[in-house]
Amino acid sequence: MAQIAIVGSGPAGYYAAEAALKQWGDDARVDVFDRLPVPYGLIRTGVAPDHQSIKLVARRYEATALNENVRFAGNVLVGEDVSIEELRSLYDAVILATGAPHDRPLEIEGAELGNVFGSAAFVGWYNGHPEFASLDPDLGGRHAVVIGMGNVALDVGRILAKTEAEFTGSDIVSHALQQLLASGIERITILGRRGPHQIMMTPKELGELGKLDRAAPEVDPADLPPLADDALLEPGLRKSVTLLRDFAAAQPDGGKPVTIAFDFFASPHRLLGEGGRVTAVEVERTEVKAGRAVGTGACYTVPASLVISCIGYRSSPIAGVPFEEREGRFANEGGFILPGLYCVGWARRGPSGTIGTNRPDGFGVVERIAAEVVADRGKQGRAGFDALAAKRGLDVVTFSDWRRIEAAEIAAAREGSPREKFVDIAAMIAARQN
Ligand code: NAP
Repeated sequence: MAQIAIVGSGPAGYYAAEAALKQWGDDARVDVFDRLPVPYGLIRTGVAPDHQSIKLVARRYEATALNENVRFAGNVLVGEDVSIEELRSLYDAVILATGAPHDRPLEIEGAELGNVFGSAAFVGWYNGHPEFASLDPDLGGRHAVVIGMGNVALDVGRILAKTEAEFTGSDIVSHALQQLLASGIERITILGRRGPHQIMMTPKELGELGKLDRAAPEVDPADLPPLADDALLEPGLRKSVTLLRDFAAAQPDGGKPVTIAFDFFASPHRLLGEGGRVTAVEVERTEVKAGRAVGTGACYTVPASLVISCIGYRSSPIAGVPFEEREGRFANEGGFILPGLYCVGWARRGPSGTIGTNRPDGFGVVERIAAEVVADRGKQGRAGFDALAAKRGLDVVTFSDWRRIEAAEIAAAREGSPREKFVDIAAMIAARQN
């Protein structure tokens, strides 16, 4: 019998669970813990609410979760409710799949001003993450600045620009939808500290900006490198740069009231404010030398009533687990942290790659565990955890509970939406009585 604890029920967690089932078959006992009473991590609270087709991957995780040898234990905060040491003593192997839920901080003057948010908070707000549901950003001003040129910046820019009709079919939470529909934002500036050849945006996601009902992208043709240089790019990036060229060539669309402006070679230098709230971003013009952004000393300001930095994420340290501060992830060697303790996904490698990248990650780490960990050492596994949970009075949420919560969310959906998410933990827990 292999007793495996997985901490985190997002893609990395469920791919690791799937791998454990494949590895040990009926000899696997896998407990998947989550601090929230609901599963799926980033699929639920990170993937954009208007990207429902991406969220469908949760069905695959559900198939794993429903296997009789896999158990979901939600509403359990590992590191507080139960320690890593306790889990290590109960299970043959513990796999940390906790993702990277915190923003990499924007370390410039003025970052603490009002109406400045990191993408974890802002995305969590419109996706109904209980920690950020009450963020209440002020969308009443005319200028939003989004910092970073990755796919999260695209998600945020697009969500700020969409019409009510364009949200049909999405599961954006109602509180955010109402605020977005009343938004006064007319210009969304996406700041990139490097140039068009260094964007991290993938073509499918970038292409969506060219098809919005009330917003049009704006690219300054002068920022684009010579066309011949695109030949050196890898195919995906070349497609993205071609889209930027299309945006630059398009006639300004006077009919669309919102502009999404790409500002390249633009490094945020400091945030300016009035009365404690942000009013502008002071930007330093850069040049790209040997792939790096180098400041030229020339500065200008971009008006900003709202700033969202989309510059990457960090994992949360857990007591007793070595952590690499600079990288913001667990200290590990190919997923191995300490005997019997492993990590996968963003907790292992940092916030990069697609959802699918986590599958080989999970399978690789499980193979390692199979080779390195001697199972069948009489560990107590889930019976031991249950005894501990009962002693501590933990209110563990099961997968059947989650399915009742999910049914209540589906029943509460507004017309055209797949669900209305509960956005606070007490409401989630209460809904399992349904
Ligand atoms: P990302 O792809 O790493 O992009 C981060 C951006 O922030 C880069 O443009 C980076 O510029 C910039 N940046 C970093 N530090 C900065 C600073 N101090 N000042 C100014 N700019 C700074 O990260 P992400 O957008 O958060 O995405 C995370 C992962 O999730 C990626 O793998 C992404 O593809 C994935 N994702 C996928 C989807 C999708 O497929 N639909 C949606 C969302 C996210 P430099 O390049 O110059 O460092």
